[in-house]
Amino acid sequence: MPAKTGNQYIAALQANPAEVWLRGEPVPDVTTHPALRGGVRSVAALYDQQHDPALRDAMTFPSPSSGHPVGLSFIIPRTADDLERRRAMMTHWAWLGCGMMARTPDFLNVSLAAWAGAAGYFGQNRPEFADNVQRYFEFVRENDVTLTHTLVNLQPRRNAGVLDELDEQVALTVIKETADGIIVRGSRILATLGPISDEIAVYPTRTHLLGPEAWRQAFSFSIPCATPGVKFVCRESFDYGRSAFDHPLGSRFEEMDSIVFFDDVLVPWERVFLLGDVEMCNYYAVATQSTTQSGYQVVNRCVVKTEFILGLAQLMADTLGSGELPHVQEKIAEIIIHLETLKACLRASEADAALNSWGVMCPAQGPITAARALYPGVIYPRLAEIVQLLGASSLMALPSESDFNAPIGPELERYLTTASAPARERVRLFRLAWDVACSAFGGRQALYERFFGGDPVRNALLTYRAYNRDAAVARVREFLAKEQ
Ligand SMILES: Cc1cc2nc3c(=O)[nH]c(=O)nc-3n(C[C@H](O)[C@H](O)[C@H](O)COP(=O)(O)OP(=O)(O)OC[C@H]3O[C@@H](n4cnc5c(N)ncnc54)[C@H](O)[C@@H]3O)c2cc1C
Repeated sequence: MPAKTGNQYIAALQANPAEVWLRGEPVPDVTTHPALRGGVRSVAALYDQQHDPALRDAMTFPSPSSGHPVGLSFIIPRTADDLERRRAMMTHWAWLGCGMMARTPDFLNVSLAAWAGAAGYFGQNRPEFADNVQRYFEFVRENDVTLTHTLVNLQPRRNAGVLDELDEQVALTVIKETADGIIVRGSRILATLGPISDEIAVYPTRTHLLGPEAWRQAFSFSIPCATPGVKFVCRESFDYGRSAFDHPLGSRFEEMDSIVFFDDVLVPWERVFLLGDVEMCNYYAVATQSTTQSGYQVVNRCVVKTEFILGLAQLMADTLGSGELPHVQEKIAEIIIHLETLKACLRASEADAALNSWGVMCPAQGPITAARALYPGVIYPRLAEIVQLLGASSLMALPSESDFNAPIGPELERYLTTASAPARERVRLFRLAWDVACSAFGGRQALYERFFGGDPVRNALLTYRAYNRDAAVARVREFLAKEQ
């Protein structure tokens, strides 16, 4: 199947139901369940965009094996032009989700493409693993498989360092090797999009390094979500089944986070990419540069999200008639500065992109690391705060769509109208602002940006360890050595 349609995405979820639990009940069909179907529809719309006659050429490229059009996020970039074409494609998807749907499938597609481009890394000790990675990538690309991933083990206690202290009763662990594959048991967090994906990729992360004793927790594999023994436990849904007027983001972009349990799950050998080598597991992301490639997708989405919030903030000021107040202009200028900083990082990463040792064109890591550190800790919490500061009570003076259609409607029209907007338009806009900065959906957005890319503290430790500071230190020594 070449680049799939939304209907094909939905049909595959229906044909291969995974074990999904939500509020104490199994979900027989995620595509129709009120808590999940809005998210399914939005993911389906992404795939439909691949078939939009106006965008088809921008969204796909001819498969190197079949010649069929396949999603452009599967390209293994070899030139700067490949990177830019791929960014343009990813930008279309990011705008469909207003940057609020973070797990558009390109996030994992670009990681997988980086692995396939560096397949030799996986085959260093066991050559068959290189073939497995390559074959799996082609399978995913040719079938436009929708992936989720889960990298972090649940932990009963924490280490004060970058090494995780794993408990075999809890952490995902290989309990047996058989002729057919490995058997794994344990738990992982937090599979975003898990319940509405086709397959789950399970691999290690740089932010939770494995100690030398953790060889039974050192692996990388990918299996169908519907594999027997794999169970997804959803958090509370933030889609309340309300209209797009009432709940503009939650009703559309519920990408659902889930805990995953693996109950003696068989992973066939052809789906194993790394096994038992702690060092290879700890180092694979650096060696293949897959986190830089996925980080580039992330920063691109953050640009879109920030631009969306800029537009929202301006409309809020226009609607309230507060746009001439100096502090309002200052706050909107602050959003602009954050937006331009992110764009600069993205462009710098492209300008300094280079072929890695596997011949894959990779954006420069420095600007991606900088943007990824700034966004969770500095930029995004402030953007949400600015929306609150600009909105004040208008973020709570929010009747629902049905209030407008009720006998109280005419009074709402009269009292909530502003000098520049009728009441309904004002409420529609501020419901969006509420969903960005005040609702449970908005709260999850802030938590997501803070943590999805790993614990920011550990990320900072890794940056400290990896960044070469010798030249900077030498400069200061030189200065100190000067007599005048
Ligand atoms: C909304 C959301 C979606 C997510 N989606 C995904 C996903 O799709 N796939 C996936 O694999 N993961 C996902 N994650 C999980 C994410 O990778 C982790 O939250 C992140 O790596 C932090 O790990 P943790 O939650 O176990 O933190 P915890 O270890 O529980 O951290 C708790 C606190 O202790 C501190 N702490 C803990 N250990 C250390 C240490 N060693 N050194 C310094 N400080 C420490 C942390 O800084 C933090 O303040 C998601 C998380 C969120 C919130």
